[in-house]
Amino acid sequence: MSDNNLRSVLLRLDGASYKAYKDIKGNYQFSDFTLIIDYIQGDPFASPSKFRVKVPQSIAQFPKQLYKSRSREIALRDYLTRQFYHVASQISFRRGTGKSGLITIASLKQEVLERTSAFIDDNDLEIRFVVGLPARGRRILGRQAAEMLCEDIPNIVEQALFYDSLDHQAIQHQVETVEDADWIRQQLSSKNLTAFVPNGAILPRRSGVDNRPLVENAISFQSPSSLEVAFNCPNRGAIKGMGIPEGITLIVGGGYHGKSTLLQAIELGVYNQIPGDGRELVVTNPNAVKIRAEDGRSIAGVNISPFINHLPGGKSTTNFSTTNASGSTSQAANIIEALEANAQLLLVDEDTSATNFTIRDRRMQMLIAKEKEPITPFIDKVRQLYSDYGVSTILVMGGSGDYFEVADTVIAMDNYQPYDVTEQAKAIAKDYPSNRNTEGGTAFGEITPRAPVNSSIDPSTHKRSVKLKVREVDDIAFGTEDIDLAAVSQIVDSAQLRAIAYAIVYAKDHYLDRQITIPEILDLVMRDLAEQGLDILTDFTQGDLALFRRFEFAAALNRLRTLKIRDENFFKGEI
Ligand code: ADP
Ligand code: MG
Repeated sequence: MSDNNLRSVLLRLDGASYKAYKDIKGNYQFSDFTLIIDYIQGDPFASPSKFRVKVPQSIAQFPKQLYKSRSREIALRDYLTRQFYHVASQISFRRGTGKSGLITIASLKQEVLERTSAFIDDNDLEIRFVVGLPARGRRILGRQAAEMLCEDIPNIVEQALFYDSLDHQAIQHQVETVEDADWIRQQLSSKNLTAFVPNGAILPRRSGVDNRPLVENAISFQSPSSLEVAFNCPNRGAIKGMGIPEGITLIVGGGYHGKSTLLQAIELGVYNQIPGDGRELVVTNPNAVKIRAEDGRSIAGVNISPFINHLPGGKSTTNFSTTNASGSTSQAANIIEALEANAQLLLVDEDTSATNFTIRDRRMQMLIAKEKEPITPFIDKVRQLYSDYGVSTILVMGGSGDYFEVADTVIAMDNYQPYDVTEQAKAIAKDYPSNRNTEGGTAFGEITPRAPVNSSIDPSTHKRSVKLKVREVDDIAFGTEDIDLAAVSQIVDSAQLRAIAYAIVYAKDHYLDRQITIPEILDLVMRDLAEQGLDILTDFTQGDLALFRRFEFAAALNRLRTLKIRDENFFKGEI
């Protein structure tokens, strides 16, 4: 059908009941693109209708070099989504009841993620967006609908999706920046680094609720010379900055001197940021996991015995379950679960750590004997993590010098600038020994991969076989359960959360019918997504999914309160 057909159908529907909109589902050939209407909302207040446009490259004309590498392609798709959002929000306006008049697409923040909102290849460009089909009450506003679909959408397509309408320099800059960041991230391990913060980076944010860069009085980052490293990037050429070596790194310094801000930048360095963010070339080992205390979370069958033993009442810590974890047991479980998912770098901030999990000084060791303290503090395990498993740690620690002994690198933040104080800290540790007894034993301990019980992962309600809903970046409604992810700070976008929710159902449908461990599930799901894309997660094409990492997928599964783990003996076939 053509756009003229669509226009006459819409004019004919004017005044009809909202349900009649169902008739317009289908494909329409416009002069410059194809409009595909995949899903029609039930009423003007319901979630908006799902649309796609496909623009042939003969018309869109994006040069191949802008999407020739995977990094570039993702950067360009991100750019197109942002452009569509920008133009659509200028052109669309309220046209009746509820969501009437809305034309929009995923609204993006600072991160550049792989998403289902935009695709590009040699043949065409596909954009997925939503439309609030207009009505007054429950009566179709056919003339407004015809304007939106047959005039506004072609305008948005022309302004946002034709290469010639766009800022060529800005696009080039975005694809090159993302490609450079990916490239530096790939080089980190060959230089034995866990993270890189370039000179000139702007790390502070505008506010606690606004992730754009701080503009006024922001002090730009400058590496101490002893930690300075250089990379030769494919696009921008040489870049210098601070390289954080593998091993154990402490970030020390007075309160309010920028320690947590640095750690947060490192934490998000697993993702790329848009140019102009200030952190667009801050990069971190992609397998870095932020660890924090999270009292109240549930834990299912985790072997936390490297950290916790001899709980009162004889409760098992090799197979530890609770519906209400304490600060220390939650932090221990967060670490073990990250290791189970193959984390290579742990990021810990004293601001969000349990004190008794982090330190236990000489005096406390004298007063409370080891036999009376279930917790082996992190300070006695952090080295073994590195020597036994090659897992590095970056720890913000302004409050205790006991860690000087176990650190490889000590960085002091002073007025938002980093200084290498490793030698001073080591000298102090020698002159003023902490006299602690190390309590961690001879090895870190085993990481025991767990196998989930299929039936304990149930997305159904009494009405529906699958019910999923996400709220911001904090929460997944999964069947009748709520998965609380407020403490998982490396989930940065609700589109990631939505994809994770679908991915849990996908894993259940495809892989959980057998005995399979969580790391095996993570491998399979992430492999499928890498090979086949996010569309495998849903029955209908959807524009509101974004790629997540295996760690955040595991985090959601681990916080599902119904999750049960197969008995170890069952797993060995003994039961
Ligand atoms: P700490 O963890 O050392 O107590 P924070 O990292 O929380 O300190 O930073 C304290 C405040 O300083 C925050 O409001 C933060 O936005 C601001 N800040 C951090 N780094 C910079 C910087 N480079 N320039 C200006 N302000 C900064
Ligand atoms: Mg802090």
